Amino acid sequence: MKKGKIIVLSAPSGTGKSSIIKRLLDYPELNLGFSVSATSRAPRGNEQHGVEYYFISHEEFKHRAEAGDFVEWEEVYPGTCYGTLKSEVQRVTEAGQNLIMDIDVKGGLNVKKCYGDQALTIFILPPSKEELERRLRGRGTDAEEVIRKRLDKADFELSFAPEFDIRVVNDDLDRAVEEVRTLIMGNS
Ligand code: ADP
Ligand code: 5GP
Repeated sequence: MKKGKIIVLSAPSGTGKSSIIKRLLDYPELNLGFSVSATSRAPRGNEQHGVEYYFISHEEFKHRAEAGDFVEWEEVYPGTCYGTLKSEVQRVTEAGQNLIMDIDVKGGLNVKKCYGDQALTIFILPPSKEELERRLRGRGTDAEEVIRKRLDKADFELSFAPEFDIRVVNDDLDRAVEEVRTLIMGNS
């Protein structure tokens, strides 16, 4: 695969984006570097600063947004912001790697607008709403109120699926990872 590709994975929370990305990062031939986003939410479970996210305060987030430090950012949930740092895109591309992003649907479509054919946008679909709810609860890292907010947003997010380059159903994790891996390899 040639250098400098941007792979975007978007989906309702709990569908399995992080699980898929974690597995894809193990394939050396894909030469992927993960774009570590900044967020104003608190770490969940064993999440570490600089690994899953750069965890910053709401104030620092706003300050960095005003300073123009982000390629894109969104208030994905009321009061909670997430964004792709310009420095992160540089870090990965300057290392000669392809960039893989786990970002929300609006952010994903904005990246496509910015980068055109250099970006491949993949929408991950849950097998059903019931299974999505099971996965969110099964993850065991979010309070009930947070789970409800995420489920409430799922229909809105799913309505953007047709605007992505490709849609993949995350039914069986091994199968979905293989489908995405093949798509990325074929997109060289
Ligand atoms: P996201 O990053 O989209 O929010 P996660 O990767 O955190 O989602 O997955 C949510 C939960 O669902 C996790 O507990 C994960 O282990 C589980 N999960 C992911 N993919 C599958 C799958 N194909 N089948 C069953 N459970 C899955
Ligand atoms: P979570 O809190 O479950 O890690 O992520 C919540 C949502 O924020 C997910 O839809 C995730 O894809 C999105 N997200 C994470 N990082 C970014 C980012 O940098 N930009 C945008 N627009 N969304 C992001």
